[in-house]
Amino acid sequence: MHEIGIAGELARIVLSEAERNGLPKVTKVSVCFGEMVQVVPDIFRTVFSETVKNTVAEGSLVDIETVKIRVRCRSCGNEFPVSENDFRCNLCNSADVDLIHGNEVFVKSIEGERYGN
Ligand SMILES: [Zn+2]
Repeated sequence: MHEIGIAGELARIVLSEAERNGLPKVTKVSVCFGEMVQVVPDIFRTVFSETVKNTVAEGSLVDIETVKIRVRCRSCGNEFPVSENDFRCNLCNSADVDLIHGNEVFVKSIEGERYGN
C-alpha cells in the first residue's frame, strides 16, 4: 500500500504551502496522479485524512485528477496514449518507448481560509 508514503509526502507539501501562504485552514487539496503510479483514490483519501489529522488540513476535501499514460516511440517518434498496458507503438509496433506522462505525483492546488475573510 504505497499510498501511505505518497500521502505523507504530499501532506508535507500541503502543510508547508499552507504555512507559506498564511492559511490557518486548508479546505481543499487537489492532487494529480499518473496512471502508472496506481494510486487507489479511496485508499489515498483515507490515508491522507489520517495523515493530516490535528493539522490545518484536517477535514480538507481531496480532489484527485488522474493523468493518462502517454509515451513516445523511440523508433519513429510517434506519441500515443497507452491503454490496457499495451505499450507497443501503433505505427511501427516497436515496444521501445519513453514515458511522457503517467508518472506524475504532485499537489496541483490547495484552497483554504485566511484570517479576516
Ligand atoms: Zn513507432
